[in-house]
Amino acid sequence: MLAPHKAIEPPRETEKKIARRSLVQPLGFSIRLNLWYTSFFIVGAFLLFTFAYVLLVRELRESDREIVRAKLDDCRAWYAQGGTNALERHFKNESDWARESTFIEVRNTNEVMTFFYSPQKDKAMLTRLGTGQVSEADWFSLPSAEPGMVWTITGTKLSDGAIMEVGCTTENRDELLRHFRTIFLFAIIPIVVLGFCGGTFLTYRALGPIREIIGAVRSIIQTGDLRARVPGQRTEDEIEELVTLFNRMLERNESLIRAMRDSLDNVAHDLRTPLTRLRGGAEMALQQENPAQIKEALADAVEEAERLNAMLCTIMDISEVQAGSLKLDLETFPLAPIVRSLVDLYDDVAQEKNITVTAGIDPSGQVTADRNRLQLLLSNLLDNALKYTPNDGRVEIGATFATDAVRITLRDTGIGIDADDLPRIWERLYRGDKSRSQRGLGLGLSLVKAFVEAHGGTITVESETGHGSLFTVTLPKPAPLPS
Ligand code: ADP
Repeated sequence: MLAPHKAIEPPRETEKKIARRSLVQPLGFSIRLNLWYTSFFIVGAFLLFTFAYVLLVRELRESDREIVRAKLDDCRAWYAQGGTNALERHFKNESDWARESTFIEVRNTNEVMTFFYSPQKDKAMLTRLGTGQVSEADWFSLPSAEPGMVWTITGTKLSDGAIMEVGCTTENRDELLRHFRTIFLFAIIPIVVLGFCGGTFLTYRALGPIREIIGAVRSIIQTGDLRARVPGQRTEDEIEELVTLFNRMLERNESLIRAMRDSLDNVAHDLRTPLTRLRGGAEMALQQENPAQIKEALADAVEEAERLNAMLCTIMDISEVQAGSLKLDLETFPLAPIVRSLVDLYDDVAQEKNITVTAGIDPSGQVTADRNRLQLLLSNLLDNALKYTPNDGRVEIGATFATDAVRITLRDTGIGIDADDLPRIWERLYRGDKSRSQRGLGLGLSLVKAFVEAHGGTITVESETGHGSLFTVTLPKPAPLPS
């Protein structure tokens, strides 16, 4: 049911709530989005740093091992030349070794230490080295006596069965890693600032269209002007689609509300005259003294009220179709049975006036339409044809079935329509001068036209005064669905 204009507008309190909520929500959302972005950025940077750190640790460990391996090779070569004496000789002369944090230990086959050298005299570690089989594939670490340092140690079995172990401290490596960690701690501050600023900028840009939509909605709520639109975006993405769809929705709402208002205006206008007549009839009844005349006046008023009711229903139907809110229940069915049942329905009226009604319709011809509405529109046309055709006339109903459309024709030998009236017969409440003697509301053809157009079809009329009229309804045939 249509409601009065005022009911469409939201109450003031709701307006305020909507406006307040629309101010608060996007702010909260943008902050949340920003925090998410910043968190991801920081976590990403942290993971990247950790990955680089692990790679660096592995790389440094490998290079430390290379150094230890090279030293082991040197020592083994010297040992092969002259045993522990050769080692002694080399270590006295090699000043480089003394500077570096390196140790060497040789144990004979009885596990007795025959040689030990360490510039740091880190003998405490010897007790921790232990004994047993060693190979160059074995690597182990031991904490140095100097705080913060670790020995990287490997060993080998010599040709005479003795075991040689060589180790280096990872002083350089630890220093480098410490630097790396410090750099990251300093870098994290600009990373957070950059993440936050980047997040703020991106969030602001991403929510731009949303702000535009909020602006448009707020303007509609506050001013009631339905013409507000969101400025078009040329981003060719989901945002552009959202804005386009939103604007299309506003357009549709605007046209629906405009149509509703027009309908209400028209209904109010159309009902004024019959209502005045009804009031006049009731006043007349009040003025009568004679009970029989009072009864007659009241009967007229009741009849007028019934007319008014029928009129209102039809006007509402037409308005519904014109506003585009009518839902058609389309189906494909044979036309002939429907026409036949209509002819049967009007048989009494036709016989009363001795009018011959013929319907030559191909029984296999199908039409796609809303069955009830098609019946209603055809009965209106047939009713008019019988109404405006004098006694002993003829009414012919025909149909042609083309691939793209069905054409239904109603030809009568009636009074015809004046050329001046022809363009106006589709208007609501319009009645030709010659038809005033007949019953009618002047709404039949408006309803027929509205129904035909709702089906995407057309209706035309050809008429000659005194000779009859030909109404042609063309209904499109929907393309068959691909199988
Ligand atoms: P109503 O028949 O109630 O007057 P309609 O909307 O059905 O209203 O028709 C509008 C006008 O068109 C009629 O008043 C009449 O003048 C004219 N008209 C409609 N159909 C015919 C017809 N078959 N023959 C002659 N005039 C017609």
